[in-house]
Amino acid sequence: MADTKKLLFLPGDGIGPEVMAEVRRVIDWMAKNRSISFDIVEGLVGGCAYDDCGEAISDETMADAMAVDAVLLGAVGGPKWADVPFDKRPEAGLLRLRKEMDLFANLRPAVVFDALADASSLKLEIVQGMDIMIVRELTGGVYFGEPRGIETLADGTRRGINTQVYTTPEIHRVARIAFELAKKRGNRVASAEKCNVMESGLLWREEVTHIHETEFPEVELSHILADNCAMQLVRNPKQFDVIVTDNLFGDILSDEASMATGSLGMLPSASLGAEDENGNRKALYEPVHGSAPDIAGQGAANPLATILSFAMMLRYSFDMGADAELIEQAVQNVLGGGLRTADIMQEGKARVSTSVMGETIVAELGKLAG
Ligand code: NAD
Repeated sequence: MADTKKLLFLPGDGIGPEVMAEVRRVIDWMAKNRSISFDIVEGLVGGCAYDDCGEAISDETMADAMAVDAVLLGAVGGPKWADVPFDKRPEAGLLRLRKEMDLFANLRPAVVFDALADASSLKLEIVQGMDIMIVRELTGGVYFGEPRGIETLADGTRRGINTQVYTTPEIHRVARIAFELAKKRGNRVASAEKCNVMESGLLWREEVTHIHETEFPEVELSHILADNCAMQLVRNPKQFDVIVTDNLFGDILSDEASMATGSLGMLPSASLGAEDENGNRKALYEPVHGSAPDIAGQGAANPLATILSFAMMLRYSFDMGADAELIEQAVQNVLGGGLRTADIMQEGKARVSTSVMGETIVAELGKLAG
């Protein structure tokens, strides 16, 4: 009997519903052709939720997110909600999901597909074959540390304060995820911090080393200063396998690495929480791109980042690595065959709509599995 996984679909705003519709096609294909089925609940998040109930995510949808096996999100935001109160803006829905699901590890693969290697701003030989996984700590560090704020000093000048703070459990849990991932990839972790100028960076280095020595001695660990890591990512990105880093450096380094791949429309992500007693994690999967209001409703959005986010779900939530690879291979083949959405269009290639790209991926899945 087919295993059934419960999913929450949050299409969101702008191109979100368009790209999520293409994942539905892939899911329908899987339900027919693989030994798995999905029980899908759909909910509202972002501007559409605000229009519906005055909040960026309702308590009911939040409860669904806590109850399902995994959440897939499209994108939130748009100019329509530019003037809503700060705590109700579309992004507040996303932040609430991350916080209440305690999603402390953000996984951002930066993979260069062969067919798109020349779309990178870096030279072909630098990026061809690049396959990096950046693990960013997502719920700690300077974005959340106290004290914080802006204060006025006695002389009338002002001072802005944020605090970089990490505890050993916060470092240990994200380090474990990085080492576990490395074991299934190239077996190498580079840990990036600024231990030369920050005590929190020194603690980070010591605690990552501790987890390495006590739990993952078989994985190769190197330490790198975050500024050097930024340079190495444009000089020779293929030297990296898994990079683990804190919230602030991860924010910057993951954007830098992903841009080397060429297109925002191709980038998936996963955010993972702690394992429960049954070995299951709370998990949210979403494309890196936003709601692209400039192209929403035109059938021009690239659905591949969202389809690849679903592949990450199969791999990291359901241990279905072979099925994830099947989807990734279908993406490779369709790009190799010359089909392009507008954002990745190149001379001599065939421009297709969002839905034709989705249909072609499903057709390719059929060929690969057949
Ligand atoms: P964006 O990622 O939405 O768009 C940037 C550019 O890339 C646009 O020109 C857009 O057309 C293009 N683009 C993005 N995704 C694409 C895709 N799948 N296919 C083809 N082209 C694509 O970023 P933005 O314009 O800065 O922000 C738009 C809205 O999205 C804002 O409200 C922002 O707050 C929100 N946003 C949401 C998320 C999220 O939901 N996680 C992330 C980033 C931005």
